[in-house]
Amino acid sequence: MTSLLELRNVRASYGEIEVIHGVTISVEPGDVLGILGPNGAGKTTLLKVAAGLHMPSSGAVVVAGRDVTGISADKLARAGLCLVPEGRGVFPNLTVREHLRMATYRGVSLSDIEEAAYHQFPRLKERRDQAAGTMSGGEQQMLSVARAVATKPSVLLLDELSMGLAPMIVEELFGVVAKIASEGIAIIVVEQFAKAVLGVATKAAIMIDGGISAMGTPHDIHDQLSAAYLGTSHKGFPS
Ligand code: ATP
Repeated sequence: MTSLLELRNVRASYGEIEVIHGVTISVEPGDVLGILGPNGAGKTTLLKVAAGLHMPSSGAVVVAGRDVTGISADKLARAGLCLVPEGRGVFPNLTVREHLRMATYRGVSLSDIEEAAYHQFPRLKERRDQAAGTMSGGEQQMLSVARAVATKPSVLLLDELSMGLAPMIVEELFGVVAKIASEGIAIIVVEQFAKAVLGVATKAAIMIDGGISAMGTPHDIHDQLSAAYLGTSHKGFPS
């Protein structure tokens, strides 16, 4: 099967300092690739490279078999790549419905978008006329995922979905992530500590110091996590 997204031996730098040292990953329709790694490992930078927001210094970004390295983020977004950045990126003064209306630029009607979003996240329906800034962190994260899915992406890139959320909400979000993937979307989720992602991942990797130190089944990666984190200058992985 053709990968929906491939990063081939990607390197990336900020100025003189290289922070991604040759990373190769790929996702196919239905995949959830969970990448776990400590603070500063380069996870956000990797997603930015994939979304066209940071130019790799070498290597290739390939979407559905086509080399798109160097193509701008807005063109990649139109090609179906959608990044949900860390920190949700919702507009505090806009309501749920107003956020969803922004996704109609792809030609899908607001009522269809609302129906799909409220089906995935019933709680958003109750909140549809509420300003996003007054909602809980979990609800805001649900909105950022719903808005992303409304643009009909083929690849969804999720940066620290679990940030600051209670374990139960994280489980709920990952459950929806698995459902979205099962509809044929390829998903990459990067996380620092939320090993719950391994419960829904189809494959997983550990990223440390700008490289992929292990790649395998979620089960394999689960077993390697503590050792991998202990070898870094960061705190061990919470058990
Ligand atoms: P975190 O979870 O803390 O965001 P991360 O794994 O996502 O970590 P990145 O944010 O990609 O890691 O950072 C990788 C490295 O690149 C770090 O050493 C970081 O300090 C550096 N870095 C990130 N953004 C910039 C920037 N705009 N300018 C310079 N260096 C940066």
